[in-house]
This record gives sequence, structure tokens and C-alpha cells, in this order.
Amino acid sequence: MVENLNEIAKKAHDCAVRRGKISLIDEENNFHRDLLNEVAEVFNAEGKKSSHIEHFSDFEEELADVILVAMSTLNHFGSDIDALIKAKMDFNQIRND
Ligand SMILES: [Mg+2]
Repeated sequence: MVENLNEIAKKAHDCAVRRGKISLIDEENNFHRDLLNEVAEVFNAEGKKSSHIEHFSDFEEELADVILVAMSTLNHFGSDIDALIKAKMDFNQIRND
């Protein structure tokens, strides 16, 4: 069964809460910092085989983390991610800059 983005984001958010990476109390979170940390891990990746997930590089793994942190954050604030991504892609299609 293919999951939609909102379902994936809900799972990612639930996992982040379980692991203590996201608190259900908003004042305890710093989503900006968490996203920047994951972006930094992308820049620190060396393109070698991931030691955590088979068939992927550490670079791919860290980019996945960026996506998952972004999706968890959007889920946390109740965003409809499927609609959001469609709306943003539709907008980008008509941009020329
Ligand atoms: Mg990471």
C-alpha cells in the first residue's frame, strides 16, 4: 500500500516523539536548530556507504533526515503536507526565476 505524505509524516513525528527528538510541548522544541543540524550532517557526509541503512550512502541518509525532520515539523503544526507540496509544485511550475 502506498502511503501519502501525511501518513509518512505522522509516522516520522510519532517516532521523533518516542525518541525524545520532538516534545509535545512546543516551548521545548527548536525546529529551526534541528533542521539546521540535519543540513549540517548532509554537508559532513562523505558519500560513503551508510553504516545504518543498506544500499544507500551517508549522503542519501542525511538528506532523508532533512526530509523527515521537515515532514515531522509540518505534521507537528498540523499542515496538510500533500496539499502543501502540490500547491508549492504548482506554483514552481509557473515561475521563471
Ligand atoms: Mg542525520
